[in-house]
Amino acid sequence: MKLALNKQLATNYKSASQKARVLTEHWVDESVFCPNCGHLDIDKYPNNRPVADFYCSNCREDYELKSKQGKIGMKIVDGAYRAMIKRLQDANNPNFFLLNYNLHNLEVLNFLVIPKHFFVPEIIESRKPLASTARRAGWVGCNILLQGIPQTGKIFFVKNRQVESRKKRCLRNGKRLYFCARKMKSPRRAGCLT
Ligand SMILES: [Zn+2]
Repeated sequence: MKLALNKQLATNYKSASQKARVLTEHWVDESVFCPNCGHLDIDKYPNNRPVADFYCSNCREDYELKSKQGKIGMKIVDGAYRAMIKRLQDANNPNFFLLNYNLHNLEVLNFLVIPKHFFVPEIIESRKPLASTARRAGWVGCNILLQGIPQTGKIFFVKNRQVESRKKRCLRNGKRLYFCARKMKSPRRAGCLT
């Protein structure tokens, strides 16, 4: 697994957010296997699909990708609050990929998956509505609260630039978590979320 993002892919894009999206999506497409079933390829949905960014053609799990430059921090800023809650309550709620990279040298620092049973409404915080002077006045965004997720709910592929290269270990973690999820319907009730 290479940690460098392929800079050349971004040369035709002007905005920083478009560049980041192209580079990080490509890296995931090339580098990541399905953490649920171990299938070597995961596939990208066509752009602008609201449900998820990637899926596994073998086990049909969906994956939402969020990337963040610099430090991971305690919260991840994400899109519309209501849409997020609705998606997490859906029968096909996605798992969550978080890719954290260094903007200066375009290298992956951390990459982790949060299995869907830990990616729940309890860890989503609504932000203040945008001010009446804003272009989208009243719009409410959300934060994903990473500190609300137990360590067992964060499966790292890359941690502090170190590749967790032992696929079996990741997979075993994944299976244990999924098995665990079937036994307990709510992570919160089982005391996994604080
Ligand atoms: Zn799979």
